[in-house]
Amino acid sequence: MNIDEAVIDRIVDEVKKNLAAPLSKINGNLIPLGVSNRHIHLTLQTFKKLFGDNTEFEVMRPLYQPGEFASKHVVTIIGAKQRSIQGVRILGPLRNYDQVEVSLTDAVVLGISPPVVNSGTLDNASPLTLVGPKGSVYLNKCAIVASRHIHMTNADARGFGVSDGDYCKVRIAGDKGTIFENVLVRINDDWKLQIHLDTDDANAANVRSETSVEFVGKM
Ligand SMILES: [Zn+2]
Repeated sequence: MNIDEAVIDRIVDEVKKNLAAPLSKINGNLIPLGVSNRHIHLTLQTFKKLFGDNTEFEVMRPLYQPGEFASKHVVTIIGAKQRSIQGVRILGPLRNYDQVEVSLTDAVVLGISPPVVNSGTLDNASPLTLVGPKGSVYLNKCAIVASRHIHMTNADARGFGVSDGDYCKVRIAGDKGTIFENVLVRINDDWKLQIHLDTDDANAANVRSETSVEFVGKM
């Protein structure tokens, strides 16, 4: 079958134009993107083991979600066979469990196989050793790859027609335009609307935190 090349060129141009168009022109269902680099949540007890009893847990800068912040403190994380990543930041406030959120690429570097799960689900989490300036601690079940998720209020959820725990699809435009599936809806009226992708997902779509993502629908 012969297809007129001019027709193909026209179709390709049309597709390219659509991919490059601002999402707001295509769809009003936009969600601000936050890209999560690898980070740590700690208990006060673990923080003190790593940084000493006399070190205060200090804020470096606030994050987009109200009350959450990047702390001034970083540690080295060590996986299998002494494979490690330095400078992993602790986010605040301190919690009642220890959790290290990494990307799948980080997991390869560390030689571990963490599960892709919602934050706080540590039953099958991988072990890591954390090393701080005043001590180290081995955490038997701490490392996960956090599920893609959207933080939203009840009002946002009504607007999107979703409930807490639903999974949905989002679309990102651009030269590496991508549709992400299995994005978990998490609802809390203290939050601001924001989707969290890890660095692997953000790089796959070639986007940074200034971008907005289009809500496509429930899975
Ligand atoms: Zn999040």
